[in-house]
Amino acid sequence: MPEGTMQSFMNYDQREDRLLAPYGLRSRQSRGREFPDTDHPYRSPFQRDRDRIIHSSAFRRLADKTQVFMNLSDYHRTRLTHTIEVVTIARTIGRALGLNEDLIEALGHLHDIGHPPFGHTGEDVLKECMVDCGGFSHNAFGLILVKDLEIRSSEYNGLNLTFEVLEGQHTRVDKRQMTFLRPLLEAQTVETCDSMTYDAHDADDALKLGLVSFEDFMQIPLFAQSVEAVLQRYGKQEGRRLRKLVIRQLISSQVTDVTETALDRLAKWNPKTPEEAEMCDPIVTVSDSLATQKKHLEQFLFERVYRHPDIVAWRKQGQDQLRRMYEGYLRQPELIRGKLKDWIDVWGLPRTVGYYIGTMTDSYCQREFEAHFR
Ligand code: MG
Repeated sequence: MPEGTMQSFMNYDQREDRLLAPYGLRSRQSRGREFPDTDHPYRSPFQRDRDRIIHSSAFRRLADKTQVFMNLSDYHRTRLTHTIEVVTIARTIGRALGLNEDLIEALGHLHDIGHPPFGHTGEDVLKECMVDCGGFSHNAFGLILVKDLEIRSSEYNGLNLTFEVLEGQHTRVDKRQMTFLRPLLEAQTVETCDSMTYDAHDADDALKLGLVSFEDFMQIPLFAQSVEAVLQRYGKQEGRRLRKLVIRQLISSQVTDVTETALDRLAKWNPKTPEEAEMCDPIVTVSDSLATQKKHLEQFLFERVYRHPDIVAWRKQGQDQLRRMYEGYLRQPELIRGKLKDWIDVWGLPRTVGYYIGTMTDSYCQREFEAHFR
C-alpha cells in the first residue's frame, strides 16, 4: 500500500487471504493492465474495474435497452435489471465457493454491455448488415466499447481494465477457447448465472404479460417441480403470489444445484490455485440432471415466448427499422453524431455505422429513426 495514504480496516490483500479459497483469484495474482496504473490505497484492481464499468456511459445505456420484451409493460426486465440480477446471483454462488466477488462483479456488470438496441433483433440485423466488414456480436462489441470507445483518461482510450476481466469477456466471444483453457472460476460463475437468471425472469415476464398461461408452463418439469415445492412448503397459493413464489423457487433451486455441484467437483479435483482450477473440466455449472431440465425449459421459452406472435411482430418492425437506418447512415454519414464520427477513418464507414447503431438505446434509436428515416 502506498505510504501516507488512508488505511482501511484490512487492506485488500489481507481481506482476500482471509476470505478466498485457494482457487479464488487474488488481486496480487492479476496480470495487470495494458497501461500501467498505480495501486489504489483501498480499492482492489477488480473493484476498480467494476466501478469503471458502472460509471461508463455504455453501462448506463443498458437501462433503456431491451432484454426480450419491449413496450409491453412497465414490469418486464431491461438489459440493466437483467445484469443486476445476474451479478447478485453470481455473488451469492461466488461467496459460497470462496471466489473473488469483486472480480465476479466486474465480469457480471460487463457481460451484456455490448448489446445493441432492440435485443437480439438488433444483433441479428447488425450481423447481417455487417457481414462484409467483420460482422457483429454483442460480446465482441462489449470489448470495443471498453477498449476503444469509452473515455476516462487523458492518455488512452477505453477503461484500461485488468487482463482477467477482458479475458473473461474474450471467452464469451469465442467459446471454442474453452476447449483448451477454461475461464477462471469467477467467469464460469457469471456465465452459468446468466442463463439461470434469464430462464427464470423470462418465464416470470411471460406469465405476467399473459403471453403464456400458468397451466402451459406446468408442462415443463423444472417449473412443475418448483410449483410442487412451493405448495408443499406454503400450502395453497394463487395468482400473483404463486407466480412470485414459484420464480423465487426456480432461482433458488438452481443456485443450490450449481453450488452443490461445484463444491463436489472442488472436493474431488482439489485445485490448489486458480491455474489448477482452469485446467480442470468446468466446475461452476449446473448438474447433468438440471442441464437436461433447463434444456426443456429453454426450448419451451424459445417456442412459446421468443417466437410468440406479439414478440415476432415487434421483432419484424424493429428489423425493418434498423435495416433502413443502417442503409440511411451509409448514404448520409453526416448524420452520425458524437465520438463515433472520429472512427470512420479508422474502421471505415460500414463498420462505424454498425457500431454507431450498436451504441444506441432503444428510445434514441427510435427518435433517430423518426427524425431521419421514416
Ligand atoms: Mg446476459
